[in-house]
Amino acid sequence: MTTEPPTQIVPLPLSVPLAERETGFSFMSRLAARNGVSSRLLGLNYDMPFKSVVDGEITAIRTLSALGSVNPEQVAKWTASHRNRSSHRLCGETFHGMSVRNPVIKGCPLCLKEDAQDHTRPPEQAMALRGHWMVKHVFLCMKHRHPLVPLWRESNLILRYDTSQRFTDHAAALVQGDFDQETREFTDYDQWIDNRLENGRADGWLDQHPLHAGATFCFLLGYALLRLEISAPSSIPREDRWAIYQTGYEVARKGESAIRKSLQKLQQRTATPQQGPKATFPLLYERLAHDYATDPDFMPFRDILRSHILETWPLGVGDELMGDPVERRQLHSVITASKETGVDQRRLRKLLEARKLISPEQPDAWALFDAEDTSHLLASLVTYLPAKNIRGKTLHDTVAV
Ligand SMILES: [Zn+2]
Repeated sequence: MTTEPPTQIVPLPLSVPLAERETGFSFMSRLAARNGVSSRLLGLNYDMPFKSVVDGEITAIRTLSALGSVNPEQVAKWTASHRNRSSHRLCGETFHGMSVRNPVIKGCPLCLKEDAQDHTRPPEQAMALRGHWMVKHVFLCMKHRHPLVPLWRESNLILRYDTSQRFTDHAAALVQGDFDQETREFTDYDQWIDNRLENGRADGWLDQHPLHAGATFCFLLGYALLRLEISAPSSIPREDRWAIYQTGYEVARKGESAIRKSLQKLQQRTATPQQGPKATFPLLYERLAHDYATDPDFMPFRDILRSHILETWPLGVGDELMGDPVERRQLHSVITASKETGVDQRRLRKLLEARKLISPEQPDAWALFDAEDTSHLLASLVTYLPAKNIRGKTLHDTVAV
């Protein structure tokens, strides 16, 4: 595919100004309407099918920009370019699945109302769809502090992105404020993702990672951590999801050590080891262990969770660690060691505390020690058990501690 600018294109007699961060398909739809033709016909006339602009093909974007006398780099930056079945590029970042191509189109009603104040053209020709509104992980217009709200839902790609047609149905309601909601202050997360899209990577820990993976991790971590405050994060309505992202971002921005500390706090306050990491970090574990297991963008986050579980969970043979079976026990808790050896929990605890192998503050379930280093000690306890205890009773049943 050539990326050379078209040389034979004469700008159309009537144009529309390119809005800040406007997508190519929005601009094309408005430009066509301004010139009294459909997007499809405009595309056919200039060998740039509307679908090719929807897909962010650079040649089509350049032709379109020449026709409308606007900067092609600006149009290209804010138009997601289709890579393959499941990925797109936008603002230099790769997005997967429906994260920039969702049947539900959202936007800021106050931006659109401002667009409509240009009275030289009908509102549906003035209202522009911005590129950052397409991103699943963006929730707020930073200019107006207004939440992005659903504007329409359309499964057909061409109909969905032919924006001047869609705005014909919604412009009046938008102008009279039917889509308006309460504004809110922006969060650090809102600011981070807006800056990242506009300016690229900064120097924070999260900026070392691809945007889609980083933002998704904020959501997954936030979802897990909310269990410290509410019993059912799944009950949070879709429009309040920004709060989940912010909860995760607050921790993730500080890096690996803060993430591990937060996971530790979560498991000790809300779970027992018997419940397992899958039940303790439900969505976080499921996504990183399975759904994103082969996606290299998620590998750093997967590695953090995996090594954290390995270092803090008394997993034994038969348990699962991020989709793989555990083949060797690395850690025991007082409870797992008691179960495996048949030695009474209280006696075991005393012995381990006396040897400073466990902390007195930790409950039996989370009082962990190295299984290999203590294998001789545990074996020696079993050796001295009377034969009848091995058949089922614990040491405590027969021996005074
Ligand atoms: Zn706005």
